[in-house]
Amino acid sequence: MSYTESAAPANHLMDTVLPVRPAVVDRGSGERLKPGMLQELITSGTAKAMVISQRKALVTPQGLWFGDARSLWEGLVEGEWGAVAAIYLGTTLGPSSLPEGTAVVLFTVQEPPVPGSSLVPDNAEWAGFREVAGRLDASDTALFIEASAISNWHATHTHCPQCGTPTDVEAGGWVRRCPADNSEHYPRTDPAIIVTVVGPDGRLLLGGGGPADARNYSTLAGFVEPGESLEQAVVREIAEEVGVRVTACQYLGSQSWPFPASLMLGFTATTEDSVARPDGVEVTRARWFSREELQAAVLSGEITISTRLSIARSLIEHWYGGVIEDLQQ
Ligand SMILES: [Zn+2]
Repeated sequence: MSYTESAAPANHLMDTVLPVRPAVVDRGSGERLKPGMLQELITSGTAKAMVISQRKALVTPQGLWFGDARSLWEGLVEGEWGAVAAIYLGTTLGPSSLPEGTAVVLFTVQEPPVPGSSLVPDNAEWAGFREVAGRLDASDTALFIEASAISNWHATHTHCPQCGTPTDVEAGGWVRRCPADNSEHYPRTDPAIIVTVVGPDGRLLLGGGGPADARNYSTLAGFVEPGESLEQAVVREIAEEVGVRVTACQYLGSQSWPFPASLMLGFTATTEDSVARPDGVEVTRARWFSREELQAAVLSGEITISTRLSIARSLIEHWYGGVIEDLQQ
């Protein structure tokens, strides 16, 4: 699945940017403010629930597993699964693995229930996003990402940052409030830029770091620092990582990557420099590719590039002007 394949034509903002993926749920940001809304929804017997524990979700061969929220909640609360919490994810906007208009909640569980127990079907397994992303449809992908983002935030923001008091959860799981000083705390997202750098001759600069896979080349990326614009972050990161001076950049599209909390903002940048000097820390190898060279290097197995799920791949293919063929293993 790629941006190109999953995009609906009506959601193209313009031809020159990456297609926009439509939202799969209405998050009900007004609805979830009603006190008791989540508990009412769970006990209504109409909602479906997905489950996350220790950053893994329950999946079946068909995709994400959704249980009946009411019976699942009762089982989880009565079981010995540690702390159980509920978060409202929204109502499905179109037909997917769930019927249109289905309310979806997320249950987070400290200790994962064993598949095959009375709560979880035999064919379900616990899986991280990367393990199963390739076989999830667009709707399940979006729900897994939303659920990961909000559950990661809860897992790491249990106490008030001002006074250290344990905070209470409100608004269907989208706000935490300190009972001591009444301060409200909202989910955090860390912006990061990810960039294709194009040289004066039209070639693309890709880089790689670390010994994990010395054949891997990808786009350059880094976190935006406080007080910095996105464009300033692009210029700084590219200069730091490969010693290249960016002369212009254009925003192309974004991808939520909440592992643990990033929002990837994709840019293409141009430079007049034709020599790259990796910093030796984050980037240990950098190389310029023409379109022919990149496709040939991928097909021969000389290099690997980012997978089709990633915005990095979408950015590279935006420069390439089409789909880059992978080496068939
Ligand atoms: Zn406080």
